[in-house]
Amino acid sequence: MSHTAIIIEEGQETLDSSIESILSLANSFGDDVSLVMFNSDNVELRESLTCLNVNQIYCINPPGTYNKPLPDEVAISCLEWFCNKNNVDRVLMNKTPWALNIGPRLAFRIKGSYAQDCIDIKRQEDNELVCLRPIYGGNAIAHVSLPGDTPQVATVRTTPKETIKTINGNPISITDLKPQIETDDIRVKILKTVTTVAEGPELSKAEIVIAGGRGLGGPEPFEKLKELAKILDGAVGASRAACDAGWIDHNFQIGLTGKTVTPNMYLTFGISGASQHMAGCSGSRNIVSINSDKNANIFKESKYGVVGDWKLVLPSFISTVRELIDEKQK
Ligand SMILES: Cc1cc2nc3c(=O)[nH]c(=O)nc-3n(C[C@H](O)[C@H](O)[C@H](O)COP(=O)(O)OP(=O)(O)OC[C@H]3O[C@@H](n4cnc5c(N)ncnc54)[C@H](O)[C@@H]3O)c2cc1C
Repeated sequence: MSHTAIIIEEGQETLDSSIESILSLANSFGDDVSLVMFNSDNVELRESLTCLNVNQIYCINPPGTYNKPLPDEVAISCLEWFCNKNNVDRVLMNKTPWALNIGPRLAFRIKGSYAQDCIDIKRQEDNELVCLRPIYGGNAIAHVSLPGDTPQVATVRTTPKETIKTINGNPISITDLKPQIETDDIRVKILKTVTTVAEGPELSKAEIVIAGGRGLGGPEPFEKLKELAKILDGAVGASRAACDAGWIDHNFQIGLTGKTVTPNMYLTFGISGASQHMAGCSGSRNIVSINSDKNANIFKESKYGVVGDWKLVLPSFISTVRELIDEKQK
């Protein structure tokens, strides 16, 4: 029987529902499925993994001592060792910046093929994988074929929502592994890690996202968006133009080359709705847009919209939301 390994990102703290999407994909192949994580001393994560419907769970403990996060070169060498030792036929990973970096390099090391940002994968009888991935800003779907005679590696687009706590089932034990890898030729050392602490919910999981674009004209209006996000318990996002201008960090970028969001409400101020931006937000349940140009593309995908200057709309929007919340709390 073929063997599919699902790699859990190094440093992942909790198990969210994205694992369920990848797991159901792996199970649809009819393979043996294993989960692979790195030296996690996180008891909650370990426990939640053991309740998933898989055949084996492995925990890789790399040799040597490293500052967190584990250097990519070490992670790749460990995964190469794991795949070769366990005759892994397919590797699936959640599409995260970490996986987008590790995936193609691992595929090269194990002499396999690679597809990224897949929204679906179908296994053919001859073991070939047909990977469906959006292209041209989501306007077309490419069918990428990974041949079945060499290992296949794919990153999968998921929409993480709630955290998985426990799933009923027969818990299976975790096998700890100590890979035999050469550590002398590791050239990258992590000297310092700087973490950006964002207030409120994480962008990719937020139920309300308030995004700003070039139409805001500068960094200051993003403070207003943050104020609104705080009131609504939402998260702030941005278009690439706003990030490229240095008004807000690229961590907040939504779109083809940014994050994908699927909130209940996606509220935009001064965003034109270029296809590359819409690629990251068109899965939102309700798009609400404020733009001074009545012909802006974003209105084509919006449920509600205001044609007007954000400088007039945003302050009254914030005060109305405050009033409604106050009234509700009375
Ligand atoms: C390969 C590639 C990848 C890309 N990836 C991404 C991506 O991931 N995410 C992304 O966002 N973009 C991406 N882009 C860029 C994308 O094509 C657009 O250039 C970008 O999204 C435009 O951002 P914007 O809507 O903020 O700016 P603009 O297109 O300049 O739109 C600004 C809008 O603000 C409105 N406006 C101006 N003043 C006001 C006002 N006072 N009140 C209200 N509205 C006002 C204008 O009418 C206009 O519609 C990518 C491009 C390429 C080529």
